[in-house]
Order: sequence, then C-alpha cells, then structure tokens
Amino acid sequence: NLTKHFPSGARRLLGGPRPVVHAVDDVSLSLRRGETLGLVGESGCGKSTVSRLMVRLLEPTRGRILFDGQDIAAMRGAELRRMRRNFQIVFQDPYSALNARFSGRDLIAEPLDIAGTDRRTREARVRQLVSEVGLAPAHLDRYPHEFSGGQRQRLGIARALALNPRLLVLDEPVSALDVSVQAQIVNLLGDLQAEHELTYVFVSHDLSVVRHIATRVAVMYLGQLVELADKETLFSNPRHPYTQALISAVPRPRPGARRQRIVLKGDVPSPISPPAGCRFHTRCPRASERCRSEVPKLRMCGANSFACHHPLEAAP
Ligand code: SF4
Ligand code: MG
Repeated sequence: NLTKHFPSGARRLLGGPRPVVHAVDDVSLSLRRGETLGLVGESGCGKSTVSRLMVRLLEPTRGRILFDGQDIAAMRGAELRRMRRNFQIVFQDPYSALNARFSGRDLIAEPLDIAGTDRRTREARVRQLVSEVGLAPAHLDRYPHEFSGGQRQRLGIARALALNPRLLVLDEPVSALDVSVQAQIVNLLGDLQAEHELTYVFVSHDLSVVRHIATRVAVMYLGQLVELADKETLFSNPRHPYTQALISAVPRPRPGARRQRIVLKGDVPSPISPPAGCRFHTRCPRASERCRSEVPKLRMCGANSFACHHPLEAAP
C-alpha cells in the first residue's frame, strides 16, 4: 500500500486545502529473489517515485516497504544506513548522477569510504569493480567528462555494486544511451546478475528493452499499478486496456506479424486531481458508467493481476 504525496507548487485556492501531487497511490507488489521486475509506464506515472521509495531515498506518506521482513519505511539513522548496503540505485543520466570533481576511483570508492573500508582493501576492491564492469584500470584517474555515456553508466554500476548489494534498482539505466551501447549495458547487467545473484527492478518507459531483460513486468498509470504478470503473459495476453495500448506501440520482434496500434485519446490527467473511479477512464476505449465512480481493485485472475472492471479476454 505504498503511497507518496508531494505538496504541489500549484496555488492554493482561498481557504482550500493545499494541493497535493498523488505521485504514488496504494501500490502493492513484491519482488522475487533473483528476478528482474520491469516497472513500466509513461513519464510521470510514478515509476521513478516507486524506485526511490524502494531504496528509501524517499519516505512514503503511507505504506510499508519490507526487506527480509523488516519495514525499512520506519527505519532511521544508523539502522537505515546498515540496511542500505542491501539495496542500491542506478540513475538514468550517469553524467548528472556523478560528481564532476570526483575521479573514477573516488566515485567508486565513496560508498566504501562511507562504510569505513581501510585503504588497502579499498584499492583492491575498486580495481576488482572496475574490471567487473568492463573498464580499464587507467580509467580510474579520469573524470566524468572524460568518459563516454556508456562508460559513465559502467562507473555508476560499479559504484552501486561496491558494497555487495542484493537488490539493484535501475531507473531508466539505458534510456540516455545509443542503441548499440544500450545492448552492451543490458548484457553487462545480465552477466552481473548471474554472477552475484542480484535482484533487479528495471524501470523504463521503453517496452522493447524491458521485453529483453525482465522476467516479470509491472505496469503503472497515473500513480497506480494497473497490471502485473510474467513477461511472456503480459506481452502475449495483456488484460488491462492500458497495457494493451502500450504494447501495441512496441515494434514487433518478428517482421510481418501484424498488430493494430492503439492510439489513446487525450493526455494523462494531472496527478493533482486524478479522475475518480478508474484513473484511466478518461482515455479508456472500454470505459463504462461504473468505471467513472468505482475504483477497480488489483486482483489476480489466471496468470495476470490487473485492476479493471472490464478486462480483455484471457487467451485460451
Ligand atoms: Fe477501462 Fe474501466 Fe477497465 Fe478502467 S476499469 S481500464 S476505464 S474498462
Ligand atoms: Mg523517471
């Protein structure tokens, strides 16, 4: 039931309540050890907020975040710092995420320094990490602007791995990169996952990348989870009309296979005053009177979990 509301910059109406942005509302999901959960949706759907909540860079307005059964949402100070080594985040733009005055070595070593690693161990660990992400030792003395986008993302990954985390949250890790470099980073992530038994949350608006890397996929719309299923199920048999529309826009892997592209009408409504009932009703081709007033609950049905009053047919 993860919920995150932010105070909005919008002006408060006379005497009215301060407007809030409903960034994430009542999202419930679990991660399986060793999986890659793809978290998808258009920009502004709340997927980045969920990823920051998961690693406790943000504090939820409501809800719990359990890691090994412990609620990290309620943790503070030293307890949270100890817990934090278990989960790390890699951001989209490696350039803005990295401190420009830090050399490659400093960047990778910073988490080790904070953890109080001694000098000798630190240098050995930094060299090991650099080789694991496919950079050369000579890269350690360079600064972020001297690296290519792909190399910077490798640095960001090395840094995230420094303290041997078990969960990596990857927030649009390849979206800023050229397609050929994207493939290299996706392959690197696959190798590292196998090697270190990592669990990934892979956040992306790009379903063709998610199709490549994810084992399960969660779809968000306007701050809520609308569908969750294994990758094959989700792509071949989406039950939620929004998922269907998203998938219809992905180029098919097999040329010649036909699919009608579904173009949604209108824009995503404001998260300051999301529509009543189903939040997707203003754009949904299947919307009924019921959808305008009654909030659909996420329910498991066959191989999919979805939140919709009038789901698409299940495949035979
Ligand atoms: Fe569309 Fe209604 Fe389903 Fe919402 S609940 S996705 S409006 S059919
Ligand atoms: Mg984002």
